[in-house]
Amino acid sequence: MVSRIIPVETFDLVIFGGTGDLARRKILPALFKRFCSGQVPDGSKLIGAARSDLTTQAYRALVAEALLEFVGDIASDAETVRAFCEHVHYVSVDARGETGWSALAAELSPETVRAFYFSVGPGVYSDLARGLERHGLVGPETRIVVEKPFGHDLETAQALNRELAQHFDESQIYRIDHYLGKETVQNLMAVRFGNMLFEPLWNAQYIDHIQITVAETVGVAGRGDYYEKSGAMRDMVQNHLMQLLCLIAMEPPAQFEPDAVRDEKLKVIRALDAVQPHHIVRGQYTAADGAAAYREDVDNPRSKTESFVALKCQVNNWRWAGTPFYLRTGKRLRARDSEITVVFKDTPHSIFGPEAGRHRNELNIQLQPNEGITLNVTIKEPGPGGMRLVDVPLDMSFAEALGPKVQGSSDAYERLIMDVIRGNQTLFMRDDEVEAAWAWTDPIIHGWEARGDVPKPYDAFAHGPDDADLMMRREGREWRGLDK
Ligand code: NAD
Repeated sequence: MVSRIIPVETFDLVIFGGTGDLARRKILPALFKRFCSGQVPDGSKLIGAARSDLTTQAYRALVAEALLEFVGDIASDAETVRAFCEHVHYVSVDARGETGWSALAAELSPETVRAFYFSVGPGVYSDLARGLERHGLVGPETRIVVEKPFGHDLETAQALNRELAQHFDESQIYRIDHYLGKETVQNLMAVRFGNMLFEPLWNAQYIDHIQITVAETVGVAGRGDYYEKSGAMRDMVQNHLMQLLCLIAMEPPAQFEPDAVRDEKLKVIRALDAVQPHHIVRGQYTAADGAAAYREDVDNPRSKTESFVALKCQVNNWRWAGTPFYLRTGKRLRARDSEITVVFKDTPHSIFGPEAGRHRNELNIQLQPNEGITLNVTIKEPGPGGMRLVDVPLDMSFAEALGPKVQGSSDAYERLIMDVIRGNQTLFMRDDEVEAAWAWTDPIIHGWEARGDVPKPYDAFAHGPDDADLMMRREGREWRGLDK
């Protein structure tokens, strides 16, 4: 297959927090993979910036080590790694002080695209924004990439948006949600808006319900301080699950263009109903199968923070009135599994009679651990003996059709970083979107706090609290995924 990758111009990318976990695990490996695909043109600089006092030589060694650790399969060629490291530089900068800024300014080229990746804790975002402007580093071709968490609630998100708006135009701010960079998430838009087949059925008349699961097997050990103040609602639902819901539920934008897409997503968030307390289940994992309990992981025996949330919500508009959306996410669950399932309604009348059983079309979009899309269709079970019906998957995984190279070729961070360099904000969240998502999330969290709600315990490596299953069963439905 002929590659149709759009070339990029020479750029400078500064990674604030360049020695941190995210930089080592995701950002640098992503840049290395883009370099291998010829997407880091000569003259481009990748500048690590952090507080540690390192030389560029020492930082290059750190980068080479990170590549070996996280993308060792493709970073085994020392010559390629060396060539990549030629682009890599390091400046010691204290975002909160005055050290290092002039050295950073001296590293930057005057006329190229300049991106600053804020891969530091959220407490440092404002200092960085102020520092960049104070030291004259912001020009028309400057972009900043801001990581989650984007605020802790509506008030803090608004304050952060206001602060960033003092130094940057909204068109320069890239709020990253790596779920939007996933191949299958974008494929979801291609499937919806590039085919005649799905869109006419994509509404409450034909869809029974939609469910989104983002399940992890990992616990919170090592991130306890952050997680204890966040919980699953803030850490996952407000951003990742909300973004997935938006892409599933939004109206077709007029163009695949940043503001057209983001306008439609915003309308979905604003159409969400307030979640009723009996339509939400919070959970917290307990010790099982050798794993410690959540409360041990965060070292707080009385913690009321949720490591699991399942909820039912409704998008109140003409398209979706009557079709519930169920969202579920949690840590220390049975499997690492992110998927969206669109469950279509029964046929209005079964000509095959009750003995044929109940069969429904389902469109399953698998995001993790493997990406792919499957459509279940009902057919006749082959062979004599009458009309027995069976559901078979029509597999739309692109790996099958387009080859494994395409499937494994790029990770979400690769795509999103390149979008920043190209100046394409389509897959990044706008200020009003983030605020609308907090405006929906805040009352739920405040309700828990006001009631002193205690999350339901669930065994580590199981399916979550029984109440989450009960919530579905009461409505005659059941969760997909997690090996069910
Ligand atoms: P980390 O603690 O591993 O690294 C933080 C980095 O920031 C270090 O390089 C440190 O030197 C630098 N830093 C801190 N204070 C600084 C200052 N005053 N001036 C200059 N540099 C400073 O953190 P991380 O896990 O890499 O996370 C970075 C950001 O990305 C956080 O906002 C986090 O919430 C977000 N994030 C991380 C992950 C992940 O998988 N690690 C995933 C999603 C989002």
